[in-house]
Order: sequence, then structure tokens, then C-alpha cells
Amino acid sequence: MLKMPFMTPLQFEAGVAAPEAPGPDAQAHWFVFKGDRLLVELGPPSPRPSDDPRVAARASWAKIPLLNNNNLLWFEPARTLYLGRLAGTACWAAEAPADAPGPPAGLGWEGLRALFTVLEDAHFALAGRAVQLLDWDRGHRYCGRCGTPTEAKSGERARACPACKLAVYPRISPAVMALVRRESEILLGRSPHFPPGMYSALAGFVEPGETLEQCLAREVEEEVGVQVSRIRYFASQPWPFPNSLMIAFVCDWVSGEIRPQAGEIEAANWFNVLHLPKLPSNISIARRLIDAVVEEMRGAA
Ligand SMILES: [Zn+2]
Repeated sequence: MLKMPFMTPLQFEAGVAAPEAPGPDAQAHWFVFKGDRLLVELGPPSPRPSDDPRVAARASWAKIPLLNNNNLLWFEPARTLYLGRLAGTACWAAEAPADAPGPPAGLGWEGLRALFTVLEDAHFALAGRAVQLLDWDRGHRYCGRCGTPTEAKSGERARACPACKLAVYPRISPAVMALVRRESEILLGRSPHFPPGMYSALAGFVEPGETLEQCLAREVEEEVGVQVSRIRYFASQPWPFPNSLMIAFVCDWVSGEIRPQAGEIEAANWFNVLHLPKLPSNISIARRLIDAVVEEMRGAA
């Protein structure tokens, strides 16, 4: 199994019901978010830049606060969720209200991208889980069918409507990623919101009723006007921006010339595997997919 950023750590045991009456000295990891920024203890600025063009600067190290269970935060959280245990230590997610006063000295709010490889991998992954669950919890305070305030269900991660009984579970949006091969070239494109000069594999969300393979063929056809075959699974990655599961494939070009979809694809080209453009950060499965396929193609050349 390929190890991916944001994948659930092996030592994590998910749970919904909080441990009963932890002792006064019991400690827990707290994943506290204000918007999309995580509360961390931050070291001095790192002299080494991130490989992610979206990250201008980052700290040399960061740590999740480890707090006593009964010694919570310096503000009243907007919501608190029990996540489970990491190597036996309880993990909690909490949301700071927008008007929460600034953190005490030594602590700061930081975006997840800037914390990749700066925070311990297991904590980074659980932060990705926490921010998604907080976002889901916030977005389902009221029943989407009848408008009644919902209640957290006990025993499972769900919110239920006491009036019409509708139950909602955390939602994941599957998205397919496709790297198209043709002889010694791969097809890469860029969407208008990419950092300058960066190209990546094509991707799109799965529609109701589609298989992953159908989604891939449709997305590639729509985005660049190319037909593909021999679709092979590569790997998948949880992607908490905001709630995707990326499912990556490699496939072969069959026919069609590149015709970028207006509004979606700013540019797309065939790139020889020996002359590649600027690629996405190692935080994403896109980079893992491109690196793996390019290595295999260079080896076969
Ligand atoms: Zn309802």
C-alpha cells in the first residue's frame, strides 16, 4: 500500500463516544481550527522553502497542543467532536469562534499546506480528518429536508433530525485523476487557478451513476477532447480541501488531438518524460502519480 499524505495513521482507532470522565491528569491531542487554520505550537521560520508554490513561508517545526482533558481552551469552542485514539491518547477536534481572542504566546494559527512535513505525519493526517468533520458538523446543524435543528447520534458519526428522522453522515466527494500516456509523452494540463507555470494530471468529480472508469473517460474527453483506453488503478488519497477522495489512474491515449475545454483548462500539452514542466507539490497524489509513471517510462526508454 502506498503511503499518502492525509491517510489515517495505523495507530489511530476512530471513535464517536467520548471516553467517560477522564481523570484530571488525562491528556489529549487537540485539533483546534479557526476557519481552515490549525492551532499549533510553531518553531522559528524554516530556511528551506516548501515545494508547494501555494506556501510562501513555513515554520521549521510545529506541534499539536497536548492538553489536559479538563483544561480546555481559552475560549468557548463553537463545536467539539471526539475523534478517537492515537496510540492510546484521546484526540479531539474543536472549532474556535471567529471572534476568539489571539492565542497565547508560542501558539499560532497555520494553514494545513504549510504544515506538510513540518507537523508529524500522523498529526497532519488527523488534522485533515478533524477539519472535514468540523466542516460537516457545522454544515448540518439543521435538517436539509425540513429545517429542524439536528442532533448528534450516539454510537455513530451522524446527525439526525428528530422531526423527520433524516440522518446525515460525513460526505466524501470522489474525484478521479487521470494521467494519459502516449509513447514517451504524458498529457498534462493546467486550470486557471493553478500557480503560474504549473501543470498536472487531469481530474474531475464523479457524477451520480458513473463508474470511476466512465468518469475518467468522460473527464478526459470533456477537458482535452482525447479518447483513452487501458485504464489502470494507481492509488487513492483523502484530500481535505474540502472533502474529496482522489482516485488516481493511468491510461493510454487512443485517438483525438488536444482541444482544451474553455473555462476549465487554460492549457494542455503532451510533455516528453525527459522534459517536464513545473509539477504539483509532493503533498498531492497528482505528484506521486506523475513521478511513478515517469520513472516507469524512463526505465522502459
Ligand atoms: Zn427533518
